[in-house]
Amino acid sequence: MPNFFKQVADYAKETRQAAKFIGQGLSVTFDHMKRRPVTVQYPYEKLVPSERYRGRIHFEFDKCISCEVCVRVCPINLPVVDWEFDKESKKKKLSHYSIDFGVCIFCGNCVEYCPTNCLSMTEEYELASYDRHDLNYDSVALGRLPYKVTDDPMVTPLRELAYLPKGVMNPHGLPAGSRRAGQRPEEIRAEMEAESAATKSTDSEEEAQ
Ligand code: SF4
Ligand code: SF4
Repeated sequence: MPNFFKQVADYAKETRQAAKFIGQGLSVTFDHMKRRPVTVQYPYEKLVPSERYRGRIHFEFDKCISCEVCVRVCPINLPVVDWEFDKESKKKKLSHYSIDFGVCIFCGNCVEYCPTNCLSMTEEYELASYDRHDLNYDSVALGRLPYKVTDDPMVTPLRELAYLPKGVMNPHGLPAGSRRAGQRPEEIRAEMEAESAATKSTDSEEEAQ
């Protein structure tokens, strides 16, 4: 008989413990329901790449003089520059240019050293492909204008990673109407337009002088 009471007491104790652990687990779950999201809802939201982001390279065919400096400064001699010698003009004539982004390490050396500035790094980072050979961009693909996060009306661009107000790392206890970090798309657009207008006016002033 005492054995029976001991078993009942043990069972009651384990039941209490199980209920306590379930309560603890659920308290964490319910606590998360109060928190605000800190993730970017890709692809509906995208981060605006930073100013000097090294994304897909843009190439301007007409400016290239086939000097092959980009090949020599590339750590893996990656750019392919095909040219023919034009006897009439006694100059090299570019026939084909390509860079394989499946191999490129985006170091930016080619862009830095190109004497005619026909290469530039864009903010395009979505280069995923089912076939790695699709990443070998020819001069037409390289000449395509880059995709811009702020130009896509289907995407909400975010300047920073979090929805939390700037400087706040703990999401608990925030008032419901707290302003999130980063700017709204219309604010980003307005700021960019103001910057480009300011740059244009500075350029025109310099030209006038
Ligand atoms: S970014 Fe660097 S690795 Fe890529 S092609 Fe240019 S020099 Fe080569
Ligand atoms: S360094 Fe510039 S100009 Fe020279 S081949 Fe490369 S892309 Fe063309």
